[in-house]
Amino acid sequence: MVEAVRTTCAYCGVGCGIRATVTGARSVEIAGDPDHPANRGRLCSKGTHLGETVGLEGRLLAPMIGNKRASWDKALDLVAKRFKETIARHGPGSVAFYVSGQLLTEDYYVANKLMKGFIGTANIDTNSRLCMSSAVAGHMRAFGEDVVPATYDDLDAADLFVLVGSNTAWCHPIVYQRIRARCEAGAKLVVIDPRRTETAEEADLHLPIRPGSDVVLMNGLLHHCREAGVVDEDYLAAHVAVPAGFWDQLGEGNDLWSVARICDVPAADLRHFYELFAANPRTVTLFSQGINQSTAGTDQVNAITNLHLATGRIGKPGAAPFSITGQPNAMGGREVGGLASTLAAHIDFAPENRARVQRFWAAPTIAEKPGLKAVDLFRAIGEGRIKAVWVMATNPAVSMPDANRVREALAACPFVVVSDVIEKTDTGAFAHVRLPAAAWGEKDGTVTNSDRTISRQRALFLLPGEAKPDWWIVKEVARRMGWKTAFTYDRPADIWREHCRLSTYDNDGARLFALSGAAQGGNAAYDAMAPFRWGGDHPFADGRFSTEDGRARLVPVAQKALPEPLAKWPLTLNTGRYRDQWHTMTRTGLAPKLARHREEPLVEIHPDDGARLGLADGGLARVSTPQGESLYRVAFHSGQRPGELFVPIHWTDRTANGGRTGLLPRPLVDPVSGQPGFKRTPASIAAV
Ligand code: SF4
Repeated sequence: MVEAVRTTCAYCGVGCGIRATVTGARSVEIAGDPDHPANRGRLCSKGTHLGETVGLEGRLLAPMIGNKRASWDKALDLVAKRFKETIARHGPGSVAFYVSGQLLTEDYYVANKLMKGFIGTANIDTNSRLCMSSAVAGHMRAFGEDVVPATYDDLDAADLFVLVGSNTAWCHPIVYQRIRARCEAGAKLVVIDPRRTETAEEADLHLPIRPGSDVVLMNGLLHHCREAGVVDEDYLAAHVAVPAGFWDQLGEGNDLWSVARICDVPAADLRHFYELFAANPRTVTLFSQGINQSTAGTDQVNAITNLHLATGRIGKPGAAPFSITGQPNAMGGREVGGLASTLAAHIDFAPENRARVQRFWAAPTIAEKPGLKAVDLFRAIGEGRIKAVWVMATNPAVSMPDANRVREALAACPFVVVSDVIEKTDTGAFAHVRLPAAAWGEKDGTVTNSDRTISRQRALFLLPGEAKPDWWIVKEVARRMGWKTAFTYDRPADIWREHCRLSTYDNDGARLFALSGAAQGGNAAYDAMAPFRWGGDHPFADGRFSTEDGRARLVPVAQKALPEPLAKWPLTLNTGRYRDQWHTMTRTGLAPKLARHREEPLVEIHPDDGARLGLADGGLARVSTPQGESLYRVAFHSGQRPGELFVPIHWTDRTANGGRTGLLPRPLVDPVSGQPGFKRTPASIAAV
């Protein structure tokens, strides 16, 4: 009998454990892993159908220079030569990597080390910038460290769930199942979302707030908590720094009636929410892209952390703010520092940190300062400041805001490398060199999910064609650029051990990483690694935070003025996911059963708006924004707020004659985190 392999789902940040039983050269039976703490045997539709996506259809199976097949030696030599030449002529800041939350931690580590320690710039950013970088920035401001202070076990202990900007039933289905189970035992569920989503349908209370009014909603709630005596003054006095004037500022314009008017919700519903929150100390506030993907995302995160800190609802069972991540390894990328805004392993660019990391890596140089974040990085390519870019495991020509400008930038860039598992991607069309990467089921390494559980992804199949793991590809380029001794890894376990050593290296006792047995053990220990959670079950349980004085921070945040609709663009466009698709559908598009849920991209609109604008339910319409336009099938939906549209993010030029949502959002970002604001784009719609 073939033994099942314990691995982890390829998709979202819930990070479900899988038992995969290989049944043929490229076939596998998928079941939930009953022993994995994230999912306890359950899987959603996407995970269940993973077995339908492991065929070789559409795979990139050999290195390509232009449209010609090349040997690995020739392709790697060319990549190393062009990067070296560009750096020699224009300096390290003229090159960049754009990587992905789909990479494994080991892949991320090697790419980050090459760019920051050897090339000597921090121009490595990731598509996680589009996903949760505002949560990172908010955690840093509030806690002094990027730590998610919650675990899935808190879902089993909470009495109240507040879901903000998250269609959890569709986007984090297994988390939602755990929430529902607790609700069936009596917990309450409040959903804050402009749309009446499938999650909102099942809530005890749904607040369909005006998009972008989250800060005033949360500030009003904190003001109410203070008036109601729910603020934990003892906790604040012992553990939290409160800036002068914080409470005075909070008292201005945050009364119930003002908040109800700005948020455009009934005052009675708002009062109900405030009373529920005040009455339930064991509250978990989960937030996702509706909070993060905003030009005020970091402030919105801190409006939530302020609430939990001020009421002492943190570091205790069933009480925490909880950022739920989109990608399978967004958290692993954060841990190795694979963002332009961190140096390595949660370490910033302070001089002593730079010296420490340089010493550890025995690196010839070290990045001096944060690099270009995603939107700025592609803008720099378009302006000719970045002259060589390597895109790994992501498709920015579709997924970045203002995707047409990204395409123009890539088309004009002197040297573009794309490593991917898929032969024809929208981004690969601009590549001078394409490198075939190992896919899920072929590669081996670790991922970190939303609640900091680190799990192994394990290979099920032999590498097909000439595909190679991402860490190997980066290592080979680094060696060809002249850094042989620093990039000698033979297997992912070598990289994992180095990552764990760096995470605990000479760091004055700072708690960065709880070493697994595999960190100290040999390859066998790595191979046998069971899921484990780093950082403990309740970070900050002792009331000590990672700031210099050990205190968390209340961060004053004010609601920004919300713009009135423009005459030319009278609607507001919101974007999001469908239940059964993932990103740009390069994998889920291979599973026919998943397409049945939503076969084509819809633009959802309130029926009154649809009738007023002469649209037909089921007809075609063109959605336009200042950035671009795209076609969609019209779906009337009474759960849409009047004046707003909703479209999915998944379709591309290759998958449909329309639904190109990436063309529509503006490239505007949160000023602290650099995360693009995908959720509120001025728009218009017309029947075609
Ligand atoms: Fe995979 Fe996420 Fe579904 Fe779990 S919830 S099976 S991790 S897609």
